[in-house]
Amino acid sequence: MKLINKTIDQCLNRINGTYKGYLSPKIPRQFTIPVIEEVNNRVASIPTFIDRRLKRDIPGLAFASPLIIFDEITREIAGERIVSQFREMGARPTSRIVAGNSFAEIEKILEISLKRFSSLEFDCEISTSRFDRKYGAIKCGEKRFDIIYGVGGGSVIDTAKYAAYKLNLPFVSIPTSLANDGFASPFAVINLGQDGTMTLCANTPLAVVVDIDLVKSDDPGYQRRIRSGIGDLLSNLTAVLDWQLADRQNKERYESYSGFQAICGARLVMKELQGGRDFFFDDHFLGILACSLMASAEAMSRYGSSRPASGFEHKLYHAYNELTGFNPGATHGELVAVGALLSSHAHDNYQENLKQTYDCVGLPTDSKGLADCGINRDLLLAAVAAATEVKPDRYTILEDRGVEALQKALHKAYPE
Ligand SMILES: [Zn+2]
Repeated sequence: MKLINKTIDQCLNRINGTYKGYLSPKIPRQFTIPVIEEVNNRVASIPTFIDRRLKRDIPGLAFASPLIIFDEITREIAGERIVSQFREMGARPTSRIVAGNSFAEIEKILEISLKRFSSLEFDCEISTSRFDRKYGAIKCGEKRFDIIYGVGGGSVIDTAKYAAYKLNLPFVSIPTSLANDGFASPFAVINLGQDGTMTLCANTPLAVVVDIDLVKSDDPGYQRRIRSGIGDLLSNLTAVLDWQLADRQNKERYESYSGFQAICGARLVMKELQGGRDFFFDDHFLGILACSLMASAEAMSRYGSSRPASGFEHKLYHAYNELTGFNPGATHGELVAVGALLSSHAHDNYQENLKQTYDCVGLPTDSKGLADCGINRDLLLAAVAAATEVKPDRYTILEDRGVEALQKALHKAYPE
């Protein structure tokens, strides 16, 4: 076991020092990339696939006691199958059904994972204060499992990823949704109920396996999830414009490779969509979307913060979310896509390309589109002003041009 732990540490903990840029660091830079990043269809047995790849890439690494986390929906889609495949391989899997991405769910996972307890502190990207009041110390000690699998959409992945991080266990991400880039990112979003959400730092997954057949679905929300993933990806274009602007104003150093990595997928997806085919069920397109979202997540790991994939449009999302009492109606991807269109008008860059692409995929390009998504235009206008309170140390087009200029951009992008 000691040997395994050492190998895992070598494999996972290539975190070399702290970012020393112009701004204080948010998380240590993670020079870690997943050992496995696979996009495929009809992977017969994901545990066997991962086992073979790990044995090839890291000889001596083996996991005998996996914890597999899913929810009621993804249990049927893939969770139970993965558990029985582990059993067939001779492993001793334990499964756990979670209901949402709250700290209460994470605490329950920590409790079943530990043999004896000691105290650990939490850290996060935004603010610890709200969490500290509620969950000052959480317990940690000798573990029952040697790896954690998350099988599901955003909330399952976030819960499993964060529990794995707190337990210092490797994490395998098996997404059943491509609605945002969280399935491969080093961050976890935790739901605080009435207090909203919080973004915490975690570890980059050891492996990310996207089985396109698990992602495709005929449920009513499927197309909206794909549209949201496209929106989150395209918003990298304006996030990077903001980052380059911050560099020109000597606020934060731009790193060209992380920036490139964040936007190349967005550009490719825009090009793919020009063909006008039915992309929702097209394996080739879904593969490109999955890889592009992984590249976006990897850019954040590489840079050590969400900067490559989060600019004004993400501030606007957080502000709008808060103004609606954390019940925004629209998805993360839809809201950041709207913010990106505003930002593109203010930057005077990409606005035509974005509008064409939004028209093609059904993201909002006019006031009616906003309403169809459940976005209130007046609240959005108020959110532009409120966004100045979100991540104030992140310099974007909002800090550069001011609230009025961005509100004008809203009138331009979405005339009344
Ligand atoms: Zn996002």
